[in-house]
Amino acid sequence: MNGIDEKLQPILATVLHRNAGEPEFHQAVREVLESLGRVVARHPEYSDEALIERICEPERQIIFRVPWIDDNNQVRINRGFRVQFNSSLGPYKGGVRFHPSVNVGIIKFLGFEQVFKNALTGMPIGGGKGGSDFDPKGRSDREIMRFCQSFMIELHRHIGEYVDVPAGDIGVGAREIGYMFGMYKRLNNRFEAGVLTGKGLAYGGSRARKEATGFGLAYFVQSMLEKKGTDFEGKRCVVSGSGNVAIYAMEKILSFGGKIVACSDSSGYIVDENGIDLELVKQIKESRRARISEYADLKGQGCTYVKCGSVWQVPCEIALPCATQNELNGTDAKALVKNGVIVVAEGANMPCTPEAVQHFRSAGIMFAPGKAANAGGVATSALEMQQNASRDSWSFQKTEDRLAEIMRGIHAACDQTAEEFGAPGDYALGANIAGFVRVADAMRAMGII
Ligand code: GLU
Repeated sequence: MNGIDEKLQPILATVLHRNAGEPEFHQAVREVLESLGRVVARHPEYSDEALIERICEPERQIIFRVPWIDDNNQVRINRGFRVQFNSSLGPYKGGVRFHPSVNVGIIKFLGFEQVFKNALTGMPIGGGKGGSDFDPKGRSDREIMRFCQSFMIELHRHIGEYVDVPAGDIGVGAREIGYMFGMYKRLNNRFEAGVLTGKGLAYGGSRARKEATGFGLAYFVQSMLEKKGTDFEGKRCVVSGSGNVAIYAMEKILSFGGKIVACSDSSGYIVDENGIDLELVKQIKESRRARISEYADLKGQGCTYVKCGSVWQVPCEIALPCATQNELNGTDAKALVKNGVIVVAEGANMPCTPEAVQHFRSAGIMFAPGKAANAGGVATSALEMQQNASRDSWSFQKTEDRLAEIMRGIHAACDQTAEEFGAPGDYALGANIAGFVRVADAMRAMGII
């Protein structure tokens, strides 16, 4: 990659020292610092008053015990987190992740990314992230409810519509948000709709929120293709994952004329040369919460299931990693480039390793980082907050139109900023600088905070 400017090296050294044993957080900070050399060279005031050091240090970190009782009457203990990273643009905003891999370093990396992503949306939201090492896989509905209730019994004192507004992420969807909202409402004795987003439509959720991250990703890629003088029509697309982001990215891409040939879950991937049957994927993953291997069992001919393995071996022109961090490595990137990929855009948060990004960059592949390409989810969360604040409920079309407009705005901001700083086409650099400048300007105006 570009390397880190000499002036910024001590900042990274402090981050590494202060956050020992948190490789994902180091990776996220390193990646942003690599872009900031060009800003401080042109505008030295941005490195004054330890501004960048302050941006790298969360405003507040909360770690708590989450005790709950399973269906066999056994007491279980998990660890809960909320990292309130930066509130200079608005209340902390960001999802909650329930996954066994969660630890403070993972939440910190996600919170750090969220600060820049949220700034890029242009909406008045700060950045934060939370979660737990709780594994929802195989848990009954009642176990999920008891866990969410216990999680909120602690979290409620730290959040609020003007303080911190959590939402979903991996392992947290409308069901979990519903249980958490119910407990928050009970504990506070107030119907504070704007305290959580990703709510059900029955009690203050926004239309198009569920679809927003995936739809937004497809809109972002549409702008990238347009820039290249082309479109989705007839292009082979591979999407990793089969959760909320992947499913709705596929839906929108299909409507744009793209062809989805493969998707995956944590156990393996499916290839369907006839084009993935999205309704079947939805049935398996959304309704039955089952494994993607069932798709191949039901489809038979023309469809294969590969246990484990890498979905990035499947030849495609558009690759959309929508599963989790560091799922696409240098070897995968080489295979994609060799097979003729033209666009890679991150639907998940930091799914490409630094080696993969470097490989795309040197091969001249268009690459969009998650903090730009997947910002449609949180942007629509901000639209949900807007609707809640005005006690309004918008139509699907109106919400999607706003989302599309926001995604086009993010694309333009990344593209123009990259151009302005002498790296045309480098969306990662453009996203980091454009996001940073918005946060930095607000922080500078507020004094040393
Ligand atoms: N978890 C999503 C993200 O990574 C959405 C966050 C939100 O809606 O607050 O951006």
